[in-house]
Amino acid sequence: MESAPSSASFKRARPPGFGNQVPSCLVDGCTADLSKCRDYHRRHKVCEVHSKTPKVSIRGQEQRFCQQCSRFHSLVEFDEGKRSCRKRLDGHNRRRRKPQPNALTVNSGSLLSNPPGMPSYSHAMAYL
Ligand SMILES: [Zn+2]
Ligand SMILES: [Zn+2]
Repeated sequence: MESAPSSASFKRARPPGFGNQVPSCLVDGCTADLSKCRDYHRRHKVCEVHSKTPKVSIRGQEQRFCQQCSRFHSLVEFDEGKRSCRKRLDGHNRRRRKPQPNALTVNSGSLLSNPPGMPSYSHAMAYL
C-alpha cells in the first residue's frame, strides 16, 4: 500500500558465494554480529534485538519479525502489538488441510443446482 520513494539506486543483488559467510541481520543499518547469536537468529538473518522490535526498517520498508513464520512481513500484516502476522493467527483457526480445487468446483456446482432453504415446504403445507 505504501509507495516508498526509491531514494537509492540500490538493487538487491546478492554477492556470489552467498551462504558461506556469516549472515547479517536484514534490518537496515544493523551491524549486529550474528556469529555470536543463536542458531535461530543466524538462520533467519535477524539479530536478537530486531526479532523483538515491533518496527524495523528493511530496504526502507517498515517491517516486523513474525514469530510464527520466522521472517519479516510488512507492518500491515500484523494486528497492532501482535508478534505474529494476522494471516498466521487466522490460519491457526481454520487451516486443517488444503482443499482441492477440484473438490471445490464440484461442491459449489452441486450447491448451485440444488439450493438449500426451500426443500419440503410444499410437503409441509400438504401435511397441514
Ligand atoms: Zn539487527
Ligand atoms: Zn507471519
